[in-house]
Amino acid sequence: MIVQLGIPQPRGTGSTGTSASAPPGRPAGASAGLVDRYGRRATDMRLSLTDKCNLRCTYCMPAEGMEWLSKQAVMSAEEIQRIVRVGVHFLGVRELRLTGGEPLVRADLLDIISSLRQAHPELPISMTTNGIGLDKKAAGLKAAGLSRINVSLDSLHEETFAQLTRRPFLAKVLAGVDAAWAAGLGPVKINAVLMRGINDVESPALLAWALDRGYELRFIEQMPLDAEHGWTRENMITAAEIRELLSVDYELAQDPRNRDGAPAERFQVRRRIPDNAGSAGPVLGTVGIIASVTEPFCSDCRRTRITAEGKIMSCLFSHEEVDLLGLLRQGASDEQLASRWQDAMWIKPKAHGMEHVGLDTPDFRQPDRSMSAIGG
Ligand code: SAM
Ligand code: SF4
Repeated sequence: MIVQLGIPQPRGTGSTGTSASAPPGRPAGASAGLVDRYGRRATDMRLSLTDKCNLRCTYCMPAEGMEWLSKQAVMSAEEIQRIVRVGVHFLGVRELRLTGGEPLVRADLLDIISSLRQAHPELPISMTTNGIGLDKKAAGLKAAGLSRINVSLDSLHEETFAQLTRRPFLAKVLAGVDAAWAAGLGPVKINAVLMRGINDVESPALLAWALDRGYELRFIEQMPLDAEHGWTRENMITAAEIRELLSVDYELAQDPRNRDGAPAERFQVRRRIPDNAGSAGPVLGTVGIIASVTEPFCSDCRRTRITAEGKIMSCLFSHEEVDLLGLLRQGASDEQLASRWQDAMWIKPKAHGMEHVGLDTPDFRQPDRSMSAIGG
């Protein structure tokens, strides 16, 4: 069945935007949105602004030796505008997350955001950043029209932070988080990846820190997306372990709010009360756990990804990349771009199969790209 969205059609084109070579079974017309063979509809767009970064997190990048894309290969500000416009006006994209690499290293970031905001006054636009330099840029980002921010922070200890990111910049990140909050870029979400024997013991302290300040902490299971292919199942900290680590100090109860396709499963947090010490205390806030490996949520995935060089990836673990920017640079119409995007999403895999990796099932192959080169 084709479900029609109330998506505005391009004016004056007189066409549905269907490509002559649309794969069999794909609903005709741009108004069908970004649907796939399994009935999922992508409305959440993750767009990478750059592959470059000023940290070298061990679970993402190698210490050295990354080859950067040339300036020419990366989408320009105008090309980003065009691609977002096609996504929003033709294909039912309802929210946009800017990411990278590190989006703050892009010199024209403020211009990109303010033009996006002008073109799409109602679109929620968020950004995931490592927070370096955010203390100086937060107010400008807010003024340009950024709606919200996620900052990645894995440790509150200088040495551990430096070990994980290979850079001594903890103080800069902390200043960045506070500035984002002060600038009104909340709710501020904090992303943390736990690594066995390095920062896993810090998980309750990270939660206490976030709760105190009103930030929403989300733990992300480490995924096999590191450039050095060093991920092992034994070393990753699972969602079940995270809940156990937190339960020493806290009681977690499933958040009654609808998850609504969000990758994080949310829990309400109360301080653990010793047995027989009376009724449970107040809810202190929430914590999220993104269990992509052990409790995957592929069946309700709503994401579509565009890499910094304008390739469509239907999934973080996709081995198929479809070139949107190349088509745009050849002078394609909005409808042709929309149609190629729909084709790329139509073949989105049913699931990434990652829950089986390391469990003697050889059908999972790590993608060639690292997280920084896809856009997390
Ligand atoms: N540089 C920005 C940052 O770190 O927030 C944005 C890009 S980064 C690739 C986006 C998110 O991906 C970060 O929260 C980071 O912790 C997460 N990430 C990177 N590699 C990962 C991996 N192998 N497994 C799970 N999360 C990962
Ligand atoms: Fe850079 Fe973000 Fe990857 Fe860390 S996770 S190396 S900050 S892109």
